[in-house]
Amino acid sequence: MSRRTGVAYTAAVSFSPTSAPPPAAVLRGAGAARRLEVPLLSAVPRLVHLFTVKGAEPGAALREASGSPLPLHTLKQVHGAAVRLVPWDEARRELARGPVAGGSTAPPEGDALATRRAGIALGVRVADCAPILIVDERSGALAAVHAGWRGTAAGVLRAAIGVLREALGARPSDLRVGIGPSIGPCCFEVGEEVVEALVRADPGAAACVLPGARRRVDLVEANRRQALDCGVPPPRIQAAGLCTFCRGDLLASYRRDRKSAGRMAGIIGWRSRDL
Ligand SMILES: [Zn+2]
Repeated sequence: MSRRTGVAYTAAVSFSPTSAPPPAAVLRGAGAARRLEVPLLSAVPRLVHLFTVKGAEPGAALREASGSPLPLHTLKQVHGAAVRLVPWDEARRELARGPVAGGSTAPPEGDALATRRAGIALGVRVADCAPILIVDERSGALAAVHAGWRGTAAGVLRAAIGVLREALGARPSDLRVGIGPSIGPCCFEVGEEVVEALVRADPGAAACVLPGARRRVDLVEANRRQALDCGVPPPRIQAAGLCTFCRGDLLASYRRDRKSAGRMAGIIGWRSRDL
């Protein structure tokens, strides 16, 4: 764990006795390229992954991390559970021949991206929601997931792991899952409707609601539960362990800063094979 970034909170629920790695994040780069890495993903050769921090610029961070300009694919995020495979250019060419053509380059709607292609990057934007990056070294499958409470209740991480397995040939037991900074259980006070939605989707998610008069939810643990339930082993899931709301020095939080909050990016990709 980086001494400069530290760990802002302790998870509400521990899934011991397992060898799950403790939360950790390492700060890299400077200026517009400042970004965090999760050690579990840093260990994968040729993989590029990063979570930008407040004030950083995704393109600059990605260029520095990858050493080359990787085209960045993003989505119009809608707090759902739709997973989009990249490339989708075949579909776009199809559209371009149709009557509603126009060759629109607007990104499709969705909250998770998956690919097996090298030389491109997948990105999600967050400011309190959890950015989740997934890699399978054996099949080469990758995913970037945007999971706020709505997406978590909708099962977006489960859906992304399903696509990695069914469309891209990944085995859940081979996946590495890195969960970036999000609003922590220290600060994520929610209404009863949020608790109800999470528990309706996963009765076990009641364990992710902290005791006390004010309802607080551990979003990271709710997503960790989803990954475990899909068959990802505990040692293959690691969170950054940083709360966006607490760490105003480093991270953007919509709940803290409202309209002035910037967005941070979670990005993953394989370096081009010819580099
Ligand atoms: Zn906090």
